Amino acid sequence: MAIELLMSSCLIGQCCRWDAKMGKSCVTPTLHLMLNNGRVAVICPECAGGLDVPRPAAEIEPAKTAADVLSGSGRVVNTEGEDVTAQYVSGAKAALALVQKHGIRVAILKSRSPSCGRDQVYDGTFAGKLIEGRGVTAELLMQHGVKVFDETQIDEALACLEELRKTPAQA
Ligand code: SF4
Repeated sequence: MAIELLMSSCLIGQCCRWDAKMGKSCVTPTLHLMLNNGRVAVICPECAGGLDVPRPAAEIEPAKTAADVLSGSGRVVNTEGEDVTAQYVSGAKAALALVQKHGIRVAILKSRSPSCGRDQVYDGTFAGKLIEGRGVTAELLMQHGVKVFDETQIDEALACLEELRKTPAQA
């Protein structure tokens, strides 16, 4: 069976978070079946980009967006003041390569992450303030037409997948 869904690794309980806490699994019975049947690819973009577990927390710098990061006009910086933009962009490209390799059109990514968030991210001041915005990987995937959902939208993601199964992928 074809791989048709991408998920953030931490959402299936893998230990890849910056603070090395176990990710809280959000695997529903349907997702469990899909995982068992090899229909789900999983990736932690930050690990794929070369960052360790644990690692210092990082945020997109204030007043910049994930699109800015991808275009080279914004940075991702960690609490040590280190520029980790290259690792974030590299991880995003690894996720994109994965979806393009398998023709994946739907992703379920972890909310609020500077890589995986699709609606909100922290504002870059490390003060715990959320703002509207995307993580770098979510942005790159959405720029390439992937339908991105988060862990609160699993039913919507699966419904989207079901709908897309009726539509052949564009070459
Ligand atoms: S949110 Fe994304 S980058 Fe962060 S630990 Fe989960 S999979 Fe990795």
